[in-house]
Amino acid sequence: MKIPEKFHNSLEEAPFKTCNNCQKELINSNSEYLIEKAYKQFGQFEAEELLFEIAICMDCANTMRGSLSKESKNAVENFFMEKSMARKNQAGIDPMAECLLTGKPLTEMEEYQIYAYCQGDSIAMHGGYYVLSDDIIEAIQSLLSAETKEELQRFTDEHTGMPPELKKLFSQGDLLLI
Ligand SMILES: [Zn+2]
Repeated sequence: MKIPEKFHNSLEEAPFKTCNNCQKELINSNSEYLIEKAYKQFGQFEAEELLFEIAICMDCANTMRGSLSKESKNAVENFFMEKSMARKNQAGIDPMAECLLTGKPLTEMEEYQIYAYCQGDSIAMHGGYYVLSDDIIEAIQSLLSAETKEELQRFTDEHTGMPPELKKLFSQGDLLLI
């Protein structure tokens, strides 16, 4: 399937075309890449604000993963596995309407992040897309070692041309790239 509009580059109002890290072209080269975005919702105004967005090719994502501690990666993987096992048989649910791991409705989240695993102009065949709620993101962050948080910070500082206010968000370990 085509990449849902919610995952488009908000500045260009079009699909992401290059890796935010190495600038590699993504669409014509049919590359595999990840898109991650974070939003804050203002329920009383029925509005939301985009906190950050990033498209990153698998080479860059793997390089980054390689620099993270094994303990942190295992902890996050186990957490994901446990939570998804508990949520089996949820077929037919719109993945953008609720948290992948808790089922918390999107409308009840103050902040949330969306993830898509893409190839070229489509959602990757063996990929998918999903939403994680604020409480789950917090729980995942608490699993990361200080060392891993430092690596995430360094990666952002070195490779991501982000404005300082966005870097601050990443330094909290928000850039998970799971
Ligand atoms: Zn890249």
